[in-house]
Amino acid sequence: MNTMAQRLAGKPPAQAVRERVKRDVALEREKSGRVPGLAVVQVGDDPASSIYVKRKHEAALALGIQSFEHRPSAAISTEALLELVDRLNDDAAVHGILVQMPLPPHLDARSLVERINPAKDVDGLTRVSQGALMRNQPGLRPCTAIGIMDLLSFYEVPISGRRAVVVGRSALVGLPVAVMLMQQNATVTIVHSRTVEPAPIAAQADLLVVAAGQPALVTADWIKKGAVVVDVGINRREGGLAGDVDAAAEARARAFTPVPGGVGPMTIAELMRNTWLAFSHQVHGQYE
Ligand code: NAD
Repeated sequence: MNTMAQRLAGKPPAQAVRERVKRDVALEREKSGRVPGLAVVQVGDDPASSIYVKRKHEAALALGIQSFEHRPSAAISTEALLELVDRLNDDAAVHGILVQMPLPPHLDARSLVERINPAKDVDGLTRVSQGALMRNQPGLRPCTAIGIMDLLSFYEVPISGRRAVVVGRSALVGLPVAVMLMQQNATVTIVHSRTVEPAPIAAQADLLVVAAGQPALVTADWIKKGAVVVDVGINRREGGLAGDVDAAAEARARAFTPVPGGVGPMTIAELMRNTWLAFSHQVHGQYE
């Protein structure tokens, strides 16, 4: 008998994360009159970035978080952007700072990220945040990676003792999610663009996380029958968005995250959570 694979929709776990942030923010406002503030910097007017920034703004407002948008022109210099980051670092109403990527190529993205005060690093990309992640110390984690972990926990996907394969090794997704899976006692292998014959490696996974940005990269031969598959990829194609997993291959999985509507909703919810955590750490001295 052919049973249907379960769809692990992102909306219910994302809603749970949002509800909690909303409650925490409302309680704080009642007690102290203070609210967390999130500053988003978008350089230029890339249409995909504009959609993401608008969603972040709307999510913040819906949860009672103050939202500050900065939209310098694409011609801005690295020096002028560094000055803007310095001002946001010094602004007591701003608890989280996010510089929307990708940046125009003339700008030095790395030095911009490092300029963000690590206490306000809601993207979890500074050296301090990534160091805390590696050491499993409290801190701000990259939103998509923590969103994947929360989604797996929401659907009670077993991790401890299981074989996990992560496709991709970016600082934003692949690497942090691999580290977090290992910290939850999975046996983790990372597959990347230079891996020779990735399919048989991926096919050993009980849990396969794919964050490569390559449409239909993962075909049926990459998936062990009965595995759980998390598809992080967002690829814009004619007819809409597609993930990295070939649609025909999903049937081999026991459960999989759809694109759109899987990991995507978690990312924005976790950004709101990180803004709360950054506020809480700055005001109360703890990430909780
Ligand atoms: P990236 O380009 O920084 O990294 C891609 C990684 O995939 C690299 O480590 C590379 O080695 C690996 N890779 C590329 N081609 C491969 C191949 N043929 N075989 C094996 N590995 C390969 O991208 P990223 O920022 O990590 O994002 C990955 C994907 O996830 C993109 O599609 C991005 O749009 C999407 N994404 C989604 C969300 C979300 O909220 N759902 C958030 C962030 C990123």
